[in-house]
Amino acid sequence: MDLRFAPEEEAFREEVRTFLKEKLPTRIAEKVRQGKRLTKQDHETWHAILNERGWLANHWPKEYGGPGWSVAQAYIFDVETALAHAPRIIPFAVSMLGPVLIKYGSEAQKSHWLPRILDGTDWWCQGYSEPGSGSDLASLKTSAVRDGDHYIVNGQKTWTTLAQHANMIFCLVRTSTTGKKQEGISFLLIDMNTPGVEVRPIVLLDGEREVNEVFFTDVRVPVANLVGEENKGWTYAKYLLTYERTNIAGVGGSMAAFKELQRIAATERKNGKPLAEDPLFAARLARLEIDLENMKTTNLRVLAASGGGAASLEFSAMLKIRGTEIRQEITSLTRRALGPYAQPFISEALDEGFNGEPVGPEYAASAAVDYFNNRKLSIFGGSNEVQREIITKAILEL
Ligand SMILES: Cc1cc2nc3c(=O)[nH]c(=O)nc-3n(C[C@H](O)[C@H](O)[C@H](O)COP(=O)(O)OP(=O)(O)OC[C@H]3O[C@@H](n4cnc5c(N)ncnc54)[C@H](O)[C@@H]3O)c2cc1C
Repeated sequence: MDLRFAPEEEAFREEVRTFLKEKLPTRIAEKVRQGKRLTKQDHETWHAILNERGWLANHWPKEYGGPGWSVAQAYIFDVETALAHAPRIIPFAVSMLGPVLIKYGSEAQKSHWLPRILDGTDWWCQGYSEPGSGSDLASLKTSAVRDGDHYIVNGQKTWTTLAQHANMIFCLVRTSTTGKKQEGISFLLIDMNTPGVEVRPIVLLDGEREVNEVFFTDVRVPVANLVGEENKGWTYAKYLLTYERTNIAGVGGSMAAFKELQRIAATERKNGKPLAEDPLFAARLARLEIDLENMKTTNLRVLAASGGGAASLEFSAMLKIRGTEIRQEITSLTRRALGPYAQPFISEALDEGFNGEPVGPEYAASAAVDYFNNRKLSIFGGSNEVQREIITKAILEL
């Protein structure tokens, strides 16, 4: 098996690097490199720059405004943008809803919503989880009852990431209570400015607002916003999750974070020597590098076999588990490398223009928040325990 990229793929890598040098705003890249807070405006700016080049929805087919890249090109783009400290593409619209609309949406839905995803008119969030329906998602209770040309939606979603920025939410709703619970679910697109929608923040341990609760009280949603067929939403929901999980694997992001860890280990000192030369720390670094190399190969192999985009349910589960374990190990080792400096957390130090007294080296400012925030990786998108069940059922037939 030849793992080298072809000359035209290496030429593409150069094209991406040149684009990043010319177009990625230094101010935004510096914020990403230093682990600082990005604003909604920062994300929108970067999306607009990518869209202008036709590279935003990089795994969509050409006919819908994607670049029509091969698996290798999409991989190279992912890695190079992460290494250049570009913000990650916010996935909800581009990487999750987009593929569902392309496969299952009506022509009217595709021609209305897809261009709005590309030009940033809409900011979407994901309304899957409910209190009591996370891993057991099919038990969800938010109801949508047909009333003429509308559904009347009542219920509550939770853990809705970045809902505070969103004007649209794609929701799983219950349209039938008879038969198997998976058979009564529909996939509905809801305008968050409709009367009866309320978003409340969930403030996290570090004081950040990343997730929210979303309440629906007699919300009227046009029937035209139903994706596919009524009561068939579970199929579309699972298809979306394969994209979500493949995306969470985040190989490019881990490569960038590992490079930063290597830099820290070369700078920090233990017993008068660089930490990277400490036998125990060096062994953990080496182990991590090997795991990351394996992950890179597996990721490419699985994506190539699936023709790009997203892997099957069980393989996307596999990528999700390994990808998130590796990323958590990187943040864990970074925290160890910093010793006592990893503990203090000055929230304001993550804001642009902070000129207070830093605690420890510049790269320590976001260590605590990175470590704690990345605990979420093994939970969201479906917890890793549940991913293991998916794999055992599908591959090992246990
Ligand atoms: C930061 C963050 C952001 C999120 N963003 C979104 C979002 O934008 N939109 C959205 O819809 N959801 C979102 N989620 C929700 C996420 O998908 C759920 O948290 C996840 O699916 C787990 O569900 P739960 O929290 O209800 O845990 P539970 O299902 O209650 O699980 C609790 C524990 O039990 C274990 N467990 C449960 N069932 C099994 C089983 N069958 N076998 C073995 N172990 C099991 C789990 O692994 C876990 O450790 C987010 C979550 C987090 C933490």
